[in-house]
Amino acid sequence: MAYAVTMPDDEGDTSDQIVLEGRTYRRVRFGGERHREDSPCPGCGTYYGDLHQPGCECEECPACGGVAGDCGCR
Ligand SMILES: [Zn+2]
Ligand SMILES: [Zn+2]
Repeated sequence: MAYAVTMPDDEGDTSDQIVLEGRTYRRVRFGGERHREDSPCPGCGTYYGDLHQPGCECEECPACGGVAGDCGCR
């Protein structure tokens, strides 16, 4: 499996973590979704490898793969 995007190594950075259903996940960066959109993001304008802006409907929930914030995970 080949990825066209190099994800930054930011271990230790907690800013992209989110707790859902009692588990800690890392937020899905743009380009890491199962259904990838072309860069920049049509929802929030971010580029591959960066986090979506809050509320972007293109951000994927790391727990279920649905739309983050709109999938029911808490
Ligand atoms: Zn976005
Ligand atoms: Zn979810």
